[in-house]
Formats: sequence, structure tokens, C-alpha cells
Amino acid sequence: MALSFDPDTIQLPKGHFIGGRYVDAKGVLPMRRPSDGITYAEYPVADADLVDQAVSTAKQALKDSGWATRRPRERTNAMHRWADLIEVEGETLARLEAVSSTRLVGQLIQGDVAVTAEQIRFFAEFADKEGSDLVPTANDSLGMIMTEPYGVVGAITPWNFPLSMAGWKIGPALAAGNAIVLKPSEMTPFSTLYLAELAVRAGIPAGLINIVLGDGPTTGNAMTGHPDVAKISFTGSTAAGSAIMANIARTGVKPMTLELGGKSPQIVFADADLTLAANAIANSILVNAGQACVAGSRVIVEQSVAEPLIAAILARMQTIKPGPTWDETSDYSPIISERQIHRIDAIVQAALDAGAECLAGGKFLDRKGYFYAPTLLSNVGQDSPAVMEEIFGPVLTLQTFTDEEEALMVADHPTYGLAAGLFTRDLSRAIRLTRRLQAGTVWVNRYSRSRDHILPTGGYKQSGIGKDLGREAYQANRKSKSVLINL
Ligand code: NAD
Repeated sequence: MALSFDPDTIQLPKGHFIGGRYVDAKGVLPMRRPSDGITYAEYPVADADLVDQAVSTAKQALKDSGWATRRPRERTNAMHRWADLIEVEGETLARLEAVSSTRLVGQLIQGDVAVTAEQIRFFAEFADKEGSDLVPTANDSLGMIMTEPYGVVGAITPWNFPLSMAGWKIGPALAAGNAIVLKPSEMTPFSTLYLAELAVRAGIPAGLINIVLGDGPTTGNAMTGHPDVAKISFTGSTAAGSAIMANIARTGVKPMTLELGGKSPQIVFADADLTLAANAIANSILVNAGQACVAGSRVIVEQSVAEPLIAAILARMQTIKPGPTWDETSDYSPIISERQIHRIDAIVQAALDAGAECLAGGKFLDRKGYFYAPTLLSNVGQDSPAVMEEIFGPVLTLQTFTDEEEALMVADHPTYGLAAGLFTRDLSRAIRLTRRLQAGTVWVNRYSRSRDHILPTGGYKQSGIGKDLGREAYQANRKSKSVLINL
């Protein structure tokens, strides 16, 4: 099947998606394709009135459809039909995602599209399996913990994995009986719009999923501060998460889950399978050109095996095939924007000025669009900007250690605690260190999620509050009521 396409021929969904239809929206801000830097569309910015329209539509749709009160299996079945349609329409979704984002069309069908459909099915199954609990009380009374949906949930997603981030948010909210208003990133909104359109085509009542386009300060603020948005689910940078907390504190209290930034370490011991470790490390920084929250960007290796590990990582870095996201033979992504590629380079140059040694990359790739060479920096201290800052690009730093205590000390980051990788054949050590690592996820002898979706994801420290994925994400979309009845 030929997936490559001409980006100029793609029909983009037009406007916000509210109440099951596209609402005409005037584009105001230019959108550029990361693969060639060409301006190809303009995006609209929903103001407070439009956000209000989306929220009231969601509220009314909940009431009219009885989504929260109908037999839960009906929610499950409708969501399964939606997941089936996502797969049928996989090519269209993949192209809409690839045209604006950094995701490669050749990887999207088996990757992001399949994962999104699986996530919808995974969460759909909670609707008729997770319920209220009877609790132990005296014999003359009955105690219950009842759970209920929140009503209208507000979600905000980043640009880096638009489809699967939308699946993380919409799947549990909908299965739990809520309606949702989602604001995708202003840089990558199109696949999310089409995802919502497919939901309506699959029989999910119109108005339960609404997509509003816009930026953080206008649209995002209006959403997080809206009195009828009962809960916020956010994925993005720590800075934006902090601004959202402040806005919620200012406009009224409501629960929120925040999935934020990271600067994750990968610790390699001398007894590890070095080939496996080098591949996992290189892949974690090459996939999406390192533009992943969990990118394992800090390699911390036992001194005695630093040399062979570096050689293996460098060899893997040389195999990349950069190319436009719409060419199915490309295997290395562009950087999302001109601003971001310059930010990556500025941090690398600052690290070099502070004494880092560049073992690979450290420069733009000489081609159209925003491509940055896979970069490996050694001779960096804990205070190097390349070690401290979330770079969100294809940049690895390399530090060494001589014992476990030193490895843990170097791995600990003052701000972030999203994920960590451990490579060792010593099981006791793996468990000992896993217990002490300050991270919401620890991967041992691998550096990637499984596709089971059951393990929750979220951060320690300023990498976030609450979890996406797993049972916890479903539960976070329901509130609980304690009931005590005298018999
Ligand atoms: P970003 O914070 O700039 O934007 C994310 C979203 O928030 C966008 O939709 C943006 O419009 C919106 N936004 C920005 N300011 C806002 C405000 N004040 N109020 C409401 N909404 C606002 O992040 P980004 O550049 O799109 O994505 C990259 C970041 O996301 C990285 O820090 C990365 O680590 C993080 N991320 C985290 C996870 C996770 O699971 N922890 C997953 C993916 C990405």
C-alpha cells in the first residue's frame, strides 16, 4: 500500500468541531509544515464566546443523549464502533497527522493510528466493569462509594503525538460517561478534528466530543477558567501546566491532571547487554527526533563500558534517513517549528560554550524544513544547560559513574521525574534502584511503553500531577460519593 502523498493535495478539515459539525472559523495565524517550512494553512483562535458555545453544546448533548445514564455497555459498544472506524479510515488520519506534525506517515498506521484505536477499545471496556463499591459498616447500615461522571471535561493536548494524546484524553472521559471539549495544539489540530468527526459517524452522539482550536492564552485560558468545565486534563510543558494551575486557582477550584515535561535518565551498568541498551537509548532519542515527553535524553553509564556504548549509539545514529513526513521511506522526523529548532541549537551551543564535547551532530541538517542532526554531548556537568533543560530534540548527554550511589545522584533531576531507564543483568540491583529512582515510570532493560495501556503514565516532581492511561485515567474521570444508609 502506497502511503506517500503530495501534501498540497490534502483536504484539511475546516474550523472548530462543535455539536457534530464544523463551525466556520476564520484563520488568523499561519501554520507551517515542519518538513519543508511552507505556510500551508491558517489556524483560527476560539475566543471565550466560542469556548462557551462548545461547553454548553457538550452539556446539552449529555442531557439529550443520556450518555451518562444509559446502560454502560452501550457506551462500550459505541466506542468499539468508533475504534473500528478509526482503523478503516487509518490512511486519511495518518495523512492529516503527517501533513502538519513531525510524525512520519510510514509509521503512523501501525503506530499512532493503531494505538489510538486500541486505547479507545481499552477504555471502552471500563464502562461496564468499573463500578461503585459496598464498604464494610455495622450490620444496621449500608455503606457505599458511588462513582459518577464529572459532566463536561476540558482537555488540552500538545503537538508531539496528536492522535494518541487525543486518545489518552477522550477515551477515559467518554467511557466514564462525560462529554468533552478538547483543544489540540495550534500546530497540529487536523487529525484530532477528523477523529471527532469519525466518532459522530460511528454513532457517538453529536456534541459529546467538541474540538476548539486556538492558542493557550485565549482559548486555553477560557477553557480552564470556564465554570461549567468540571475537570481539566492537560498534557504539555511544565510552564503551561503551571499557568493552568494559576488560572484555575484564580477562577475557581476544580480537579486537574497534568502530564508535563521530562528530562529522563537512562542508567547503564557494566553488566548490561550493551547492544540492547545502545539500541534502546538511540531509539528513544531518534523517534520523533527526540520530541517525546519521556525521551531518555540523559545517558548515565558506568565508566568502564562508556567507550563501547558510545560507539554503538553513534553507529545507530548514522543510520537515520531524514525526509518529509509525507514520504513513507523517511525514518527521521523534522523539528516542529523554526522557533523550536533554534531553541535546540541555542541550548547545544550554550553547553559547548560551557565545556561540553560534541561527539556527533550539534548542527542543523542541510536540507529543506527544520531538521536537526542527532547529537551526542559528553563532558557535561550536572549544571550544563544540556543536562538541566528539557531540550525536546534529538540531543543526548553522556555522564559517567563508578558506583550505584553516584549513578543515582547523577540521575536525580531537581525539577523533573517523568521516566527512567535501567540497564543491568543484576535483578537485585534493578529492584533496589527502581525503588529509589524518583520517576513516575521506570523501564528495566527496555525504554518504551508496552501497548497494553494498563500501566498508568505520569510524573513525579514537576513532571505532573495524576495519571493518564491505565485504570487510574478512567477513575480520574469519575468523582466519588460516599453513601451511608440506616437500615
Ligand atoms: P505547550 O505547553 O507549549 O502546549 C501544550 C498545549 O497547551 C497546547 O495545546 C497549547 O496551546 C496549550 N497551552 C499553552 N499555554 C496554555 C495556557 N496558559 N492555558 C491553557 N492551555 C495552554 O507544550 P507543547 O510544546 O505543545 O508540547 C511539548 C511539551 O509537552 C513538552 O514539555 C513535553 O514534555 C510535554 N508532554 C508531556 C507528556 C506527558 O505525558 N507527560 C506527553 C507529551 C508531551
